[in-house]
Amino acid sequence: MKRLNKQCLVCGGEFLPKNVASVYCSPKCSKKAYKQKMLRLKKEEEIKVLAGKIPENKAFLSVPEAGILFGVAKRTLYRLVSQGEIPSVNLGIRLVRIDRSVMAEMFGPARSLPQPESAPKKKLYSLEKEDCYSIGEIAERFQISEGSVYNHIRKYSIPTRQIGKYVYAPKMEIDNLYNGNDFI
Ligand SMILES: [Zn+2]
Repeated sequence: MKRLNKQCLVCGGEFLPKNVASVYCSPKCSKKAYKQKMLRLKKEEEIKVLAGKIPENKAFLSVPEAGILFGVAKRTLYRLVSQGEIPSVNLGIRLVRIDRSVMAEMFGPARSLPQPESAPKKKLYSLEKEDCYSIGEIAERFQISEGSVYNHIRKYSIPTRQIGKYVYAPKMEIDNLYNGNDFI
């Protein structure tokens, strides 16, 4: 059978393959492909580490977090958010938050990651006043209305405590809800 030219996967040049399995035109392209593969594996490993740091129960994701978990480019997400294709909560510049469930609807399940062994988790929050924000403080700190704060607290079952005429919620839970690392 007559051998036909193939197209090199690296440089795109045509070459006459030595055998049916050849996909690179030269040792140079073959080496380059190997290097690229190693880089890709390293990057995948880094992504795994970053994704592993995002709490599994985090409902509101920053754009970088959503990108990592769902394998979508940040640029694409920012565009979709600004076009209104992805509904988002905008808490200010660089504080766009995307609902994790919306991402799952649009892009399918998040990367499956080995979750750390979950020993029966101790509740980490404290309802002592000094460990809490009042609803008013939350609204001011994160630039959202008190009504939205109450909605989120209900929706995500965040514990609250009433002291006098103010309602308090644990700082840790609130920070986890509204903060995200925008700089990873
Ligand atoms: Zn080549």
